[in-house]
Amino acid sequence: RNLKWQMECRSDIYRLNTQFLSIYESLIPPEEEKAKQKQLLTLLEKLVCKEWPEARLYLYGSCANSFGVSKSDIDVCLAIGDADINKSEVLLKLADILQSDNLQNVQALTRARVPIVKLMDPVTGISCDICINNLLAVVNTKLLRDYAGIDVRLRQLAFIVKHWAKSRGVNETYQGTLSSYAYVLMCIHFLQQRKPAILPCLQGMRATYSVTVDDKKCAFFDQVENLRDFGSRNRETIAQLVWGFFNYWAYGHDYTSSVISVRTGSVISKLEKDWTRRVGNDRHLICIEDPFETSHDLGRVVDKFSIKVLREEFERAADIMHYAPNPCVKLFEPY
Ligand code: ATP
Ligand code: MG
Repeated sequence: RNLKWQMECRSDIYRLNTQFLSIYESLIPPEEEKAKQKQLLTLLEKLVCKEWPEARLYLYGSCANSFGVSKSDIDVCLAIGDADINKSEVLLKLADILQSDNLQNVQALTRARVPIVKLMDPVTGISCDICINNLLAVVNTKLLRDYAGIDVRLRQLAFIVKHWAKSRGVNETYQGTLSSYAYVLMCIHFLQQRKPAILPCLQGMRATYSVTVDDKKCAFFDQVENLRDFGSRNRETIAQLVWGFFNYWAYGHDYTSSVISVRTGSVISKLEKDWTRRVGNDRHLICIEDPFETSHDLGRVVDKFSIKVLREEFERAADIMHYAPNPCVKLFEPY
């Protein structure tokens, strides 16, 4: 019924679909970029091992979760077994080591919410952030990557949504809008809710992968190669899903009482989470539960001004998908 309704509204839905697919393809990082990332990681491993032989480096974030577009920076986590280390000291030491190896723009940000060292590698031209012992991010990176392995429409939708968010200036947590990580969770949730569902709820299935990080048990089904047919009963195309996504966040979501939860594969209530009022600087005007740190609302950065900006952007996008003659241009127009 949905499909029929949409077809009646937009006779150009097939053309639109081809256009979205070519935008998606133009955003995929080419193989040589991946190779350069590996090259930089190998160099970093060599340098780090000299000082901390037991340490390991993990890629996380968009360079490892399969939602990275071309020319992204890379995120690296330095895992040092010892939980009692002084992160600032390690970061300053690390910055020293990197600087002496001719890496450029080396900067230790020891007071950031997530303390990091930033650097730029002049050989590959890649910029990189290194954090310490942030293993939860490594695990949520794996969860996102595993979801992406189930149905290609997730990656397509998330690329389009991230591209839209960057073009429209609503991908800036320091300005009260949402992180890329939050947008990908919104896409996963949306595809879990389609009828028939396009994605399952991996944390609700028999656990084939399980680790404990910072006393939190992270367990989920990760044999996603066995789930490749999961969404095949749903034939919606990427244009329809982009449309549905913006429509949901513009007109379908209950901002007053609902929390989206990838962990449970459903919508849960703010009451149940005690996310009904502002505590300190944390507001809950749009609620996105972290799949592992369940007390953590990724929407907490959003304030009473930026919620308005966000909702107007969702409405603008939904209306463009309904009426605009050329949504693939209009949607991404700079703000
Ligand atoms: P981009 O392409 O914009 O760089 P990204 O996937 O690297 O996207 P970021 O939002 O920069 O996204 O986050 C990098 C990684 O850090 C995420 O994949 C996630 O693992 C972790 N992360 C980011 N924000 C949070 C958060 N609020 N809570 C927990 N983990 C987070
Ligand atoms: Mg990143």
